[in-house]
Amino acid sequence: MVQAWAGVGEAPAELERWASFMLHCDRLHGLAQEQGMAEVELALAPLLHLLGDIAEPADAAYLPANRLLPAIAEAVRTAYDGGGKRVRTGSPAQRAATASPGVLVLSGDEAATEDLLLQMEHYGYRVQREPDPQRGLAAAAAQRPLAVIVDLSQGFERAAPIVAELARLGLPWCALARQGDYRLRLQAVRQGALFFFVAPLSIDALVEVLDPLAYPQQEPPYRVLLLDDSRTVLASVRQALRPYPQLHLGVLSRPERVLDVLNYYWPDVLLLDYHLRDCTGLEVARIIRQHKAFESIPIIYLTSESREAMQQEAMRYGGDDFLVKPVGAEQLFHTVLHRARRYRGLRKLMVEDSLTGLYNHVKTKSLLQQSLAQAERQKVPLSYAILDIDHFKRVNDDYGHATGDKVIKALARYLRQHLRDADIVGRYGGEEFVVVLQNCQPEQARRRIDSLREGFGRLYHAYEDGIFSTTFSAGIAHYPGCAGMTELMAAADAALYAAKRAGRNQVRVAGMAG
Ligand code: GH3
Ligand code: MG
Ligand code: MG
Repeated sequence: MVQAWAGVGEAPAELERWASFMLHCDRLHGLAQEQGMAEVELALAPLLHLLGDIAEPADAAYLPANRLLPAIAEAVRTAYDGGGKRVRTGSPAQRAATASPGVLVLSGDEAATEDLLLQMEHYGYRVQREPDPQRGLAAAAAQRPLAVIVDLSQGFERAAPIVAELARLGLPWCALARQGDYRLRLQAVRQGALFFFVAPLSIDALVEVLDPLAYPQQEPPYRVLLLDDSRTVLASVRQALRPYPQLHLGVLSRPERVLDVLNYYWPDVLLLDYHLRDCTGLEVARIIRQHKAFESIPIIYLTSESREAMQQEAMRYGGDDFLVKPVGAEQLFHTVLHRARRYRGLRKLMVEDSLTGLYNHVKTKSLLQQSLAQAERQKVPLSYAILDIDHFKRVNDDYGHATGDKVIKALARYLRQHLRDADIVGRYGGEEFVVVLQNCQPEQARRRIDSLREGFGRLYHAYEDGIFSTTFSAGIAHYPGCAGMTELMAAADAALYAAKRAGRNQVRVAGMAG
């Protein structure tokens, strides 16, 4: 990291030097997370924020970043010398436990919510019930919960003043009623109800409404890479795109570095100068397209010519669009945004499993391959786990296929919420999931997967006539215990099979006694 930073210092305007520095920062961050070096994570946070946010020109970020480095160096020294001073940061769910979003239920019906209070904790929410409306409002004002659920079973008129007060406090509210008759629903939406629950309040319905409130998904800015060797063009595009926070611009003036930068920056759109000094944009595009990973990145040419024959040729060689300089800021923005959005949408479809939003089979495998290669390079261990829900055919048979789907979704959510950002979670197919724990020894992997197993087994799933719970079994294999991907997957499969045979609801590690 120190060397890469010296490189940046020599030429802070060159994006590729920043790219190499960022790689080192990411690596340190991953290590800090994995090893539970909270103080390093904390010290790195402002730097990562700054780096993720470098509005061009990059050199303006040099001094602010430089000021952050001593604190990071100090934190690294403390973490390594301080011995016992390490603090585990834990999983997002554990971190959230101290500050988990609260939900307030205003209802006199104790039986209806008793189970819910306990269950919702497993999903990362604190639920509090308050039978008295006045005390409930006071609690709402003091605690500002994520949402308030108002029981309308005494009729809407009784609840109207409460709802009005919640609106005044600016707190979102949801209705809860014994029946969902149309008139009541209408009254509720007119008073701004976010959702209408019909009792009994089911956990999955509640979680589906609360999750977007608790974890609003912000689309990260689209990355635009501009390759142009004219300083004037770089400056004018920067200027033109500056007002649009939806786009993050990276610039590059040396075409020979394009593959390196693509590999780091992964743009959603490439803006390519048609006339570069030593080659044409067309030739650059052909080089890029020869790489499978980049074969569908949208390429928009920037040119000062409007000859039709030239444009046609450019499109034939893998161009997607053509903008004639000087380009108006709005036209540039809209063209870029449109291409970037479609590309990201397509990529998402390609890598996501539609039921759970986890990585799909193909993407999971390619991520595993990458992680394995990285583990080999960095000489760190890696654990690979395959999870399979127990007796899932019975779940489908007893409660219906739709309920089965809900269980799959619940497990997906549970895994995502209780694993760290750096861990890879994919749906491998059906009711099988894959977890890749980077820089993780088998014993540690066993503990972590086993605690997921226990936690998931405590969740309830609802079906029409009641609730039930279910479990999973898991097999773990480990690198360097297994050398290649095939061996790793086969060993994990065998361990899973052993776990099933030994009675299910358990975790087995390849090469270790039960
Ligand atoms: P075991 O404990 O040995 O794993 O028993 P099992 O019943 O889970 O056995 P198996 O893995 O062979 O069965 C998986 C079943 O999962 C078969 C299939 O009907 C069901 N399934 C696969 N994909 C889906 C899905 O997307 N939704 C639902 N609801 N069911 C699925
Ligand atoms: Mg299976
Ligand atoms: Mg199964």
